Order: sequence, then C-alpha cells, then structure tokens
Amino acid sequence: MSDYQEMVEFRCRRHNCNKLLLNYYITGVGSNLHLEGIELKCNKCKRVLRLKKYTEQMLIEQSDNGVFKV
Ligand SMILES: [Zn+2]
Repeated sequence: MSDYQEMVEFRCRRHNCNKLLLNYYITGVGSNLHLEGIELKCNKCKRVLRLKKYTEQMLIEQSDNGVFKV
C-alpha cells in the first residue's frame, strides 16, 4: 500500500448517501488548507455542513483511502 495520495474526496457521511461534495488536491504543504467558514450543501440528503479549521495534514490523517467523510 502506498502513502502517495494526490486528492482527497469530501463525501457526505450520512448512511446511504456518500455523495461527493468536494475534491481537494493535495499541495504537499501540510499546514495548508483553510476551510473555516466554508459551507457545503449535500444536494442528495439536504444536509448543510459547516467546515471547521482543518490543515492538509489533518485531512490526510483523517481520511480513509483518500475519502474524508463530513
Ligand atoms: Zn448527503
């Protein structure tokens, strides 16, 4: 298994939804990424998600196979 990852997919965490909300391309700078204040809306299950302050490093650590559930 490779650690190499070029993209993280933000997907809706709701059961049976899993809709792709956003693609994030990894920059290689772990301190990058400022999502605070950004709102995502899932058109499938109508959830509205307000994102917290994440760094790229946190995103990669918390993602599973390139998928980050929000
Ligand atoms: Zn959803």
